Amino acid sequence: MPLTGLEIFKLLPKTNCKKCGMPTCLAFAMQLAQKRAKLEDCPDVSEEAKKLLAAAAEPPMRKVVFGTGDNQLPVGQETVCFRHEEKFHNPTVIGVTVSDKLTGGDLKKRIEAINSLQFERVGTQLGVKAIAVMNDSGSVDNFAAAAATVKQSSDLALLLISESSQAIAAAAGKTKESVPLLASAKPDTADEMAKIAKENNCPLVAKAESIEQLSELTEKIKAEGADDIVLCLDVPNLRDRLYNLSQMRALALKKVFRPLGYPTISFVEDGDADQQAAQACGLICKYSSIVVVDTVEPYAFLPMLTTIMNVFSDPQKPVQVEPKVYPIGEPDANSPLMFTTNFSLTYYTVESDVERSRVPSYILVVDTEGTSVLTAYSGDKLNEKTVADAMAKQNVENLVKHRKLIIPGYVAVMSGKLEEATNWEVMVGPRECSMLPKYLHEVWKN
Ligand code: SF4
Repeated sequence: MPLTGLEIFKLLPKTNCKKCGMPTCLAFAMQLAQKRAKLEDCPDVSEEAKKLLAAAAEPPMRKVVFGTGDNQLPVGQETVCFRHEEKFHNPTVIGVTVSDKLTGGDLKKRIEAINSLQFERVGTQLGVKAIAVMNDSGSVDNFAAAAATVKQSSDLALLLISESSQAIAAAAGKTKESVPLLASAKPDTADEMAKIAKENNCPLVAKAESIEQLSELTEKIKAEGADDIVLCLDVPNLRDRLYNLSQMRALALKKVFRPLGYPTISFVEDGDADQQAAQACGLICKYSSIVVVDTVEPYAFLPMLTTIMNVFSDPQKPVQVEPKVYPIGEPDANSPLMFTTNFSLTYYTVESDVERSRVPSYILVVDTEGTSVLTAYSGDKLNEKTVADAMAKQNVENLVKHRKLIIPGYVAVMSGKLEEATNWEVMVGPRECSMLPKYLHEVWKN
């Protein structure tokens, strides 16, 4: 929990020497509490006070990073339990298992199936981000070989899952450049696993059957010098998992209980694809930083990835597209020009319907602060002036030879004023953009 100004003041030299640029130590402490000053500005602060202040300034949940390159994945560092308080920061990572019992073509096929679990939704790329190699064979050599094959055949981040410290050491040795997440240290293997994690510079999963055991385990691992820890609570059913994950989040963030101040991982391996998708969605909501599933059915990932997209969006900021002119197909000076708003869902719905029409067109996106057509119109963010300004700013008169603008049917009422403001002919388009293909083919005439 951040220190108050008075608590910080108690740690300062209290000489009021003004070297920090403040008239008094108390004034400096108040600025520091509000993050408007830096501790380094006081040259006389003691080393002990520095340590205490630095520890207090650490986030209540540590950020842990695994993977490399484009798939370097930060997890954790959340600051609130509820997203209306503040945005959640690091989206849940979805991983899929690969058994080390698979070899040759079967192993490659499984890896390819996982690599292909990538989707586009409202202009955003979503997909599986990690592969979890499972030591199902119990063999150290098989596990290390499977991990090496996965590393060669996929850019996704790697998780190495075994309860054998020998197997983890062998696989980590072959893949450490990929910074895999190692799983799992249990109370009886904590020392060895922490040593392997430290030697290979990889984060480590701590796995226990209760919150109490888990908090003791993280302290033990930390004492061994491994600081990057991910928590795994080994409880059998979804209800208990969700209850315990919620408790852990509250203890970490509200009570600043450091032994639980880490991201979390959950494994969902039981049940069919439908059941795994349902469980995973629950765990994404509360509060798994990483969810590992066993299915490779593409349909099962859409609800998971959509849930992540929603839970990790900023509730106070609608998802927006850049206000500008978007060419669809290869439009020319005779192509239709229409406008919509910069609410991302609105734009991408219109875009896909225009694409479907196969009529090359221009879509002018008007900045309505990320609101939809009717919301923007009723809030006076979409009116003849905002549309005319957007047309002028985007130079649409140099884009097309005609002077016709198609407007959404829902705002037909603004036609007259818009014609006066722009001197363009206004054509009222359909209310539902699903009717745009028919409209463009039958009504649009240049
Ligand atoms: S430099 Fe340090 S000791 Fe001097 S006034 Fe500022 S806070 Fe106090």
